[in-house]
Amino acid sequence: MDTTAAQPYLEQLMNQREQLLTQMAEQRGGKVGRAEQASAHFDNSQDDSAQISTEREIEFALNEHELAELQSIEDALKRIHEGVYGLCLECGVSIAPQRLHAAPQALRCLACQSTFEKHHPT
Ligand SMILES: [Zn+2]
Repeated sequence: MDTTAAQPYLEQLMNQREQLLTQMAEQRGGKVGRAEQASAHFDNSQDDSAQISTEREIEFALNEHELAELQSIEDALKRIHEGVYGLCLECGVSIAPQRLHAAPQALRCLACQSTFEKHHPT
């Protein structure tokens, strides 16, 4: 797909990227707030520190998921500039337009995506 044909997807991807970055920035702000609260209580009780580490693990997991999503958006944007957007990363077939509309960051056709997810369970 050339860059002109990919233009609607480019706009969609830029919007998603923007939203994701805003969301991540807000969460980071929230994390600092909680960390400050946590350190205020840190010396008082063993239970609090157990609670803190659980919260941190959840936040790390969320960030990892968002970073992976951000990465796939960046990859898709790069592929638009390279003129190979919409071609499956694995087998090279054109990804169905319905799939790209639903998930413009998709890098694989449905068949390759399900194979990939079997090998990389999330
Ligand atoms: Zn494929």
